[in-house]
Amino acid sequence: MKKLSLRNLDLKDKRLFLRVDFNVPLKDGKVQDDSRIRASLPSIQYALEHGARLILASHLGRPKGAQDEKYSLQPVARHLRTLLPLAEIRFADDCVGADAEQRVRHLPPGQTVLLENLRFHAEEEKNEETFSRKLASLADLYANDAFGAAHRAHASTVGIVKVLGTGAAGFLMEKEIDYLSRALENPEEPVTVILGGAKVDEKIEVIENFLNIAQNILVGGAMAYTFLEAESRPIGKSRLEEDKVARAKNLIQQAAARQVHLMLPADHVVAAEHKVNAPWRVETRIPDDMMGLDIGPITIQRYCDVIRASKTVIWNGPMGVFEMESFARGTLAIAHAVAQVRGLTIVGGGDSVAALSIAGVQNRIDHVSTGGGASLEFLAGKKLPGVEALTDAVQ
Ligand code: AMP
Repeated sequence: MKKLSLRNLDLKDKRLFLRVDFNVPLKDGKVQDDSRIRASLPSIQYALEHGARLILASHLGRPKGAQDEKYSLQPVARHLRTLLPLAEIRFADDCVGADAEQRVRHLPPGQTVLLENLRFHAEEEKNEETFSRKLASLADLYANDAFGAAHRAHASTVGIVKVLGTGAAGFLMEKEIDYLSRALENPEEPVTVILGGAKVDEKIEVIENFLNIAQNILVGGAMAYTFLEAESRPIGKSRLEEDKVARAKNLIQQAAARQVHLMLPADHVVAAEHKVNAPWRVETRIPDDMMGLDIGPITIQRYCDVIRASKTVIWNGPMGVFEMESFARGTLAIAHAVAQVRGLTIVGGGDSVAALSIAGVQNRIDHVSTGGGASLEFLAGKKLPGVEALTDAVQ
């Protein structure tokens, strides 16, 4: 179901509450990576050009429901001023209360106030009604551009929409939903899903959902060892999630029954320790005293051949400990192969996105998702509360 769009709102002179995802890494009071901020600039610029009195609100980090200087959005306000030199961007020391109310009251059309971190109030994550009402009292209209927070039912993503009665999708939110939906609804075949990283849990549901959609599911990273264990293959000291082995086994059987090509690594870069300069070698059989830290050259070749022959590719999670040069080859090779695909390519998750940028191929991917957890839940076929809360578009 399509959602009401920011484009459908009559913004002139109205107070627009735009929930954004400015949860960016900070160091010494400076923004380290501003891609999430830049991703919302189209919505921000549109709102300002159409005469909205713009209220921006976001969370940053995990301040545990209390004021904490370390998680202040002040550095983000300073950074935003450099990205939008012509706009006046004010800052409110709290997201609710007298200061925020006064700043919004005196905000002229075409200007912006960024509210302080929503998570300085524990009520935000509890989706508490009184707090939602306080946030709603600041605004006439609501739009959500924070796809990365859409898998959470919080006051600023769900509660406030209930109070205001209407909620629109910002342009980034629309773009995320549009691309991820294309991967789920009649994607061009062959469809290949590549999953890696450490945590099995959040990705196993994506595999389940794609058993109905994909022709190929390529598994790498630490999660592959739980699958190899399920096949009784030797995994040595590799990272294993013992309690997920039965589920992995079941998935392997289901994939075989449906003729989905679920591929596991055939060779590995192994080392005795998970350490930067640990001596490594390539093995097809992991010795008892070694651990797999990257996919090996045979696996790279097989995976890359499948990827390059695909028409739709979705990738989330590194193939190895790519933060260490010795174990980064698999992940970087996958990044290059995905960039060569002639078809739809979607990449999500902080590590895979970082690998794209190391490989210098970020611009050759159709959609780089800003929301790792949210995109995995979407791809697992779950409904995201922050999306569900928004008003349906009139068809
Ligand atoms: P996740 O957050 O679940 O996507 O996991 C990402 C992390 O998985 C990265 O920090 C990688 O270093 C780590 N990782 C990938 N492959 C392996 C492996 N074979 N052994 C241990 N850690 C791994």
